[in-house]
Amino acid sequence: MFSASELRSRHAFIEESLAATHDTLHFPQVQQRLGSHALTLTHMLGETFVPNIRHDQLVVPARYADYGIPVVALKHGEQVRLPAEAVGPLHSQVKAARQYLRVFSPETADATVDTLVGLAGQQSEPLDVALPARALAVVNARIIGGRPQTSIRLLGRPVLQLTYGEVAMTPDIVGHEVEHLVQTLTTRPMVPIADASVEVDIFRRELGAYSVQADIERGRRDAGLSPTSYGTVAIEIDTIRQEHAPVGDPYSPVGATRHAIAKRGWKL
Ligand SMILES: [Zn+2]
Repeated sequence: MFSASELRSRHAFIEESLAATHDTLHFPQVQQRLGSHALTLTHMLGETFVPNIRHDQLVVPARYADYGIPVVALKHGEQVRLPAEAVGPLHSQVKAARQYLRVFSPETADATVDTLVGLAGQQSEPLDVALPARALAVVNARIIGGRPQTSIRLLGRPVLQLTYGEVAMTPDIVGHEVEHLVQTLTTRPMVPIADASVEVDIFRRELGAYSVQADIERGRRDAGLSPTSYGTVAIEIDTIRQEHAPVGDPYSPVGATRHAIAKRGWKL
């Protein structure tokens, strides 16, 4: 249970972290690195909101019934809940899922998504939100569907979690998570079911997010700011990715990339 003053400091911490990221995305040096994607990330930041927390449950105001991404700041070991009525997929996710599936199976795409949306309605349970061990920041979302109903699963409304600390989270870290929001809401709203492809899908998402993080960090350095330690790792991961990426599929989780990253002792 959080006191009113505790909630106020966390609110300020989140606002500060997001504002620093917003400002950084407006650096010409960062925009030069990210191109038009800087605008996509800025728009996504604009969709976030800081919910109130009552009895360890996030309060989602009526105007956010089908819009908006809650952001919470937690310490490791703390847990809050996104209420059942707010965990379902947003309109934008359902729309993106239809577009995504139509590419692979134009005849069945709509029926599959309708089934998943129906399941989301039946399986609406609250989403427990906590920071995994060692994670600095993470995007959580309910995964809807699975065998035997569908061969693919749909993600629900995401929650952005930041580790609560003394100083604001650096823009490279927040930018990495904002890219996960872009994936969850628009570019990759579906996740596969088979275990092997889940791992590959996660790796692809991470390569994309580290690439954004690396470009933010590169742009910050171009602007004369001092390096951040996580930004340095992101640049190293992204450099490995670029070395091995096949033509036409820049974030492909090819064996050579995975091997080189594992050899450095990093687990994405
Ligand atoms: Zn990530």
